[in-house]
Amino acid sequence: MGHARVPQSSRRCYCGKTGCLETVASIPAVCQAAGVDDLDALAGSVARGDKNARGALRQAAESVACVSAAAVLLMSPSRVVVGGELPHACPQIVTDLHDALAEELIPGVPWDIDVVPAILDDEDRAMGAAIAAGTYSQG
Ligand SMILES: [Zn+2]
Repeated sequence: MGHARVPQSSRRCYCGKTGCLETVASIPAVCQAAGVDDLDALAGSVARGDKNARGALRQAAESVACVSAAAVLLMSPSRVVVGGELPHACPQIVTDLHDALAEELIPGVPWDIDVVPAILDDEDRAMGAAIAAGTYSQG
């Protein structure tokens, strides 16, 4: 998903394309937009109500909503799980994403989608991927 294009972005991505979600919603991108050096500084700035930091977080959420809305419309999930360190350091992004996603979906349709932070760590995700790979390779 990180290399799906965000229409409003034209930043060059390390993958060679421009406008990838990574360029606007990754931790380094959000920190840069907020004018801070790292995730701890971002979390502190957001907690203090720094307008640049909150704006950077909202912009990241809007970008994630923009590129994930098609998947939500296609699959109509009851839950969207937000992975990575950002939602744990700055939980506001989960609410921002919920609100931004609602803006991206069809108005008037009663979407009831929970947006929650992932509870699995890197090892859990790797184990899940290994299990999935084993499941798919058997079919
Ligand atoms: Zn990319």
